[in-house]
Amino acid sequence: MGITDNQLSPDAPLPNYRDLYIKTPAMLHSIDAAGRLLEVSDFWIEVLGYRRAEVLGEKLTHYLADASCPLEEGASLPEFFQAGQVRDVPFQMVKKNGEFIDVLVSVSSEKNSRGEVCLSMAGIIDVTERRKAERENYRLAHFDHLTNTPNRFLLRDRLKQNLAQGAREGQRVAILFIDLDRFKAVNDTLGHHAGDQLLKIVGQRLEDCVRDMDTVGRYGGDEFVVILYGIASNDDPAVFANRILDSLAQPTRLDGKHFVNSASIGIAIYPVDGLDEETLLRNADTAMYVAKELGCNSYQYFSAEMAASALEKHEIENSLRHALKHDELSLVYQPQFDLAHNRIAGFEALVRWNHPVKGLIMPSQFIPVAEETGLILPLGEWVLHAACRQAKIWQESGIPISRMAVNISARQFTRRDFLEMLEKILQDTGFAPQFLEIELTETTVMERIQDTIATLIDLKLRKVSLAIDDFGTGFSSLVYLKQFPFDRIKIAQEFVRDLSTDPADKAIVEAILRMSHSLNLDVIAEGVETREQLEYLRGRNCLEVQGYYLGRPVAAQQIVSRYFPAFLH
Ligand code: C2E
Ligand code: MG
Ligand code: MG
Repeated sequence: MGITDNQLSPDAPLPNYRDLYIKTPAMLHSIDAAGRLLEVSDFWIEVLGYRRAEVLGEKLTHYLADASCPLEEGASLPEFFQAGQVRDVPFQMVKKNGEFIDVLVSVSSEKNSRGEVCLSMAGIIDVTERRKAERENYRLAHFDHLTNTPNRFLLRDRLKQNLAQGAREGQRVAILFIDLDRFKAVNDTLGHHAGDQLLKIVGQRLEDCVRDMDTVGRYGGDEFVVILYGIASNDDPAVFANRILDSLAQPTRLDGKHFVNSASIGIAIYPVDGLDEETLLRNADTAMYVAKELGCNSYQYFSAEMAASALEKHEIENSLRHALKHDELSLVYQPQFDLAHNRIAGFEALVRWNHPVKGLIMPSQFIPVAEETGLILPLGEWVLHAACRQAKIWQESGIPISRMAVNISARQFTRRDFLEMLEKILQDTGFAPQFLEIELTETTVMERIQDTIATLIDLKLRKVSLAIDDFGTGFSSLVYLKQFPFDRIKIAQEFVRDLSTDPADKAIVEAILRMSHSLNLDVIAEGVETREQLEYLRGRNCLEVQGYYLGRPVAAQQIVSRYFPAFLH
């Protein structure tokens, strides 16, 4: 008869339980009522690095990390080592070499006839590696790897705790939302490695600017958040903000070059600007945007007006998204006149938003929001497509369109895929590139000349013309004007407006005209509203004009009926 599972072999030696206790690879020990070690397993000794003779008879407290004073007589043994049954109590033990290990202790005690603990046996599991991995996971999940400061999640958590504490103790908490100015330029010009270096330095400097009790963390990208607990007055955060701006302004050495950094800071205060972390962070962020808009390197306190305008922006963004999908956008065209030949030189396409409830909305009210939110990309693509298609339709019906000018925003123009998109539109519509003119504002081109050169040259090779819009309002380098392939300068409306009354404007217009003639650039004056302005410009050899005096921007059908009535069907 074979041996079944639940039958012991008759030859099996009876286990020697003492051996089992000692030799099993598990940390086991037993102590007496006084907490002295009676027996320890081999593995216990191996892990802690002792010899058996050293430990037997010693107090267990000797080997426990938390014991207040292990060598002193009467040092207390944590109660759970003696009382009844406990499972997996986390604790730390000390190795002979002084290192700590994390353990889970399970204890079972025996009591004598008087009900007193007389023997206590423990099984111990070494979880040091597991704890290390857990701590590492925690660090990875809660700290930013570059700056080693709390990340967005931990920041929110800390803020939540600070707010709860603030509520209990009646304290104010300030949130500083910090965004580096022109960080993208560092990444683009010096490379990502330099960008990373800069972020590390900024993290360090921010920590140096605040108190130990405050939190500094990286919220994402080039955004940092500082939480100041228990500020004495609402003016305090400004002191910190100034300190931070000063510290960031110290030149940084990146890639062997000195680099001066700045940031924009938004400040929100609990409880005045919000009660929960979500609202406070959002409001501090809104204030940061305002600081940025007002010219960077500064701080702003959040205000209710900011919230209202942020909300309005948000609403515009949402309904603009909707508008793009639901055909609410349209184009109007404004003629540009060639005074020398007394004819139409071309048209500028201008976008309009026909809102189902609010009616007609002008571009100044939504283009900035579209630029900020990135909606300018689909919007700009739509405009370009619609303008090219309309021009082609006109050309096919025999109307002479020798120039269709389209405004392209910086964000759109600096996209890597801009040319690809343009190419596709020209192909789709069949509109010839030599009839297309792209208008870029002066600032778009000049501020990002390095990013734009290649695209400008490429456009020129494709025979697309290039105009600098609103010339005179931004900053131009005359060297660039000469070097790069612009065809036309558009004199900004604001100089034309007061031409007859303001001698300074007169001087500017004349200077622009002289300069463009000598650089061999064509010129067009925008915003011509009166006969007087027109005659003045004509007299100064400005041979192209655009403005209400000669023609307002109107829809495509009106262009035909007004300027090419012969082509009306
Ligand atoms: P801009 O490109 O300088 O366009 C000229 C603006 O001046 C147009 O305003 C036009 O209607 C207006 N204007 C023309 N002649 C006169 C005049 O004699 N007197 C006055 N007071 N104004 C005149 P609009 O259409 O409101 O466009 C404003 C700006 O919005 C444009 O300035 C352009 O920067 C931007 N924009 C318009 N459409 C688009 C577009 O499709 N894409 C992009 N990115 N921007 C656009
Ligand atoms: Mg324009
Ligand atoms: Mg303009």
